[in-house]
Amino acid sequence: MSKIICIANQKGGVGKTTTAVNLAASLAAAEKPTLLVDIDPQGNATSGVGIDKSRLKQTIYDALVDEIDAQSLIVDIGQPFLHVIPANSDLAGAELELASEIGRELKLKFALASLVEQYRYIIIDCPPSLNLLTVNAMTWADSVLIPLQCEFYAMEGLSQILHTIHLIQRGLNPLLKIEGILLTMFDSRGNLGKEVMAEIRTHFPDQVFDAVIPRNVRLAEAPSHGKPVIHYDISSRGAASYLQLAREIIQRETANG
Ligand code: ADP
Ligand code: MG
Repeated sequence: MSKIICIANQKGGVGKTTTAVNLAASLAAAEKPTLLVDIDPQGNATSGVGIDKSRLKQTIYDALVDEIDAQSLIVDIGQPFLHVIPANSDLAGAELELASEIGRELKLKFALASLVEQYRYIIIDCPPSLNLLTVNAMTWADSVLIPLQCEFYAMEGLSQILHTIHLIQRGLNPLLKIEGILLTMFDSRGNLGKEVMAEIRTHFPDQVFDAVIPRNVRLAEAPSHGKPVIHYDISSRGAASYLQLAREIIQRETANG
């Protein structure tokens, strides 16, 4: 069975996609069969692993709206342990199309349920909004990983997503857990990053990953080469930090049985 982790935060530009792509690639590097699912109409995770968004015949949209067999959506990117279900701008219309349907929050779960035997981890890259697509991800997932940029307003956005998680737990998915808060784009120069990090660790003592993602130019460059950072520059600090995150997630699960 898979462990399904959705990467969510309603703010854009906090490192969701970077985390989804690089966590998925790092889990795959540990030989864990991993599926990366893109549910953001921007399709950044899709292009970030080298898939040409404009040439796709089928995407996650077809599974959500037309109930196409999930198996036929899987894209082989030449990695033995990493497969991808892509998205592109077609998905932008899905929210409206699903809005009036019965069971609209369960579409992703039903569409991809047949894949859980095949993968050890399923990583879902969510759009920058707590919309119906994100609700679908949270309804299917075992846990939510929240990337948080180490900046002054970080805590404010956090209460909104925690509230959404709480609502999903009450209604749609009582077993949904918080996988953890991941501090991203950490800048060790200057005090602000350190202060924000200390404040978040104080408020959420057991929920912040030990792994902290530094601001690292290699992480920003890798997507333009269509590669996760470990395949672009394995010696970078960005690569090391995402490999550490993957180890933490794998170890916790082993510890929890
Ligand atoms: P989101 O998916 O939350 O909108 P992204 O992962 O796309 O955020 O990141 C926003 C931008 O910041 C992208 O251009 C990405 O390449 C860059 N970026 C993300 N994380 C880092 C990092 N740790 N260091 C440097 N640049 C980063
Ligand atoms: Mg994104």
